[in-house]
Amino acid sequence: MTRILVISDIHANLPALEAVLSDAVGYDGVWCLGDLVGYGPRPNECIQLIRSLPNLVCLLGNHDAAVLGQIDVESFNHEASQSAVWTQNNLNAGSLEFLKTLPESTVVQDVSMAHGSPRNPVWEYLLDIYTARDNFEYFTTETCLVGHTHVPLTYELLENPRRAVLTQFVGPGVHRITTRSILNPGSVGQPRDYDPRTSYAIYSPEDKLWECHRVVYDIPTVQKWIREAGLPPRHAERLEFGW
Ligand code: ZN
Repeated sequence: MTRILVISDIHANLPALEAVLSDAVGYDGVWCLGDLVGYGPRPNECIQLIRSLPNLVCLLGNHDAAVLGQIDVESFNHEASQSAVWTQNNLNAGSLEFLKTLPESTVVQDVSMAHGSPRNPVWEYLLDIYTARDNFEYFTTETCLVGHTHVPLTYELLENPRRAVLTQFVGPGVHRITTRSILNPGSVGQPRDYDPRTSYAIYSPEDKLWECHRVVYDIPTVQKWIREAGLPPRHAERLEFGW
């Protein structure tokens, strides 16, 4: 049975990424939904590690696009733009070249993927059932994977009346895919659902299963690195609260 490791929003948090990779044993491929960098202190190390993963599919996120100069860092809030500028100054040539190769969206094995949403891949947040319902018009596959909100959840499309049903995971959980669905694995490097543990998913296409996992990782070390790098202190503080 095929098992795909699905990760998103790593945000240069190396201890979190390493914790995910040692927890998620026995996967056949890795699908990464973007935002490899931004906020965190180890962008090159995270990109190098992600590039080494088997059967990798990797998308561009809004923070990756900002670092490449494809979108204006002024469109970010002050602290996010500070970290984007820091990342621009600290990325090596190989990391930059890799980010430049990333697409905004893709379809693999009959699964659509976008960082934010199928309608607006780099920018739109799927935070509510109405935005999610409208986005089912913008992909044709049964399943679409997104990140960007840093919250692990599923939206299922029901008809008569046409509506999207939201299920948010509180801790680990298993979801059986029975209808058209938009699935979010949460964030590896900066969870925002008040659970500070790193988040990832395992997608099993033959069984139509989506497993959400949470793992404790070494938050004090990445906080120390953020402060040492001179990145905004709030990026360090928020990690221990999961917000
Ligand atoms: Zn993000």
